[in-house]
Amino acid sequence: RQPIIAIDGPAGAGKSTVARQVAAKLGLVYLDTGAMYRAITWLILQEGIALDDECAIAELANRCVIELAPSQDLQSPVQVSINGRDVTQAIRSLEVTSQVSTVAAQTAVRQALVKQQQNWGKKGGLVAEGRDIGTHVFPDAEVKIFLTASVQERARRRLKDFKKQGQSTVSVEQLEKDIAERDRKDSTRKVSPLKKAPDAIEVNTDGLSVNEVTEKIVGYYQQ
Ligand code: C5P
Repeated sequence: RQPIIAIDGPAGAGKSTVARQVAAKLGLVYLDTGAMYRAITWLILQEGIALDDECAIAELANRCVIELAPSQDLQSPVQVSINGRDVTQAIRSLEVTSQVSTVAAQTAVRQALVKQQQNWGKKGGLVAEGRDIGTHVFPDAEVKIFLTASVQERARRRLKDFKKQGQSTVSVEQLEKDIAERDRKDSTRKVSPLKKAPDAIEVNTDGLSVNEVTEKIVGYYQQ
């Protein structure tokens, strides 16, 4: 199979932007696994299913159809649909963002999504981004990167994203709190928690531009 580059790390470390650029540079497919957890969360909220109803959520995870299509340009996120509904914008809402970690902690949800991700990765040729790619989804990935940045820097980047989307009601302090809480949930859950794989290269992106981080990763790949 063709190579796989795994990029993991906490919320807002710049994984998506960097993974998209690395994929474009190397002619690989970009896989945003977070978008899949977000899409399921959106559907659960839409259908009014309680977040602790693990049975109903398991059933939904096993029957839903998630499609991901490359975005029009390097700056925009992937286009996502679930059961034929375009949720590209909706999955980025504050509501989905605040609930997604609770949904992603459920074993049945992870089993269903990891299976799909591994199917897509059968032929390789992927830059896959998430929390458990190097540890669990593709443990034999050729290159494993663990992207980090300080909470303050990550909140500042998120705020910039929100402003670009025309949303300015949220404060940087609130974003810092949300990010820290999501990291706590993601790294303490029982099933494949957010963790650096022992053989992953840690890249701290504080003060680095997207291009600089992209170049570093492309460099590791070409070594
Ligand atoms: O990367 P993004 O912020 O879109 O991910 C949203 C959430 O999805 C994460 O906070 C985490 O709870 C979950 N996730 C996960 N495993 C992945 C990707 C995302 O648990 N591989």
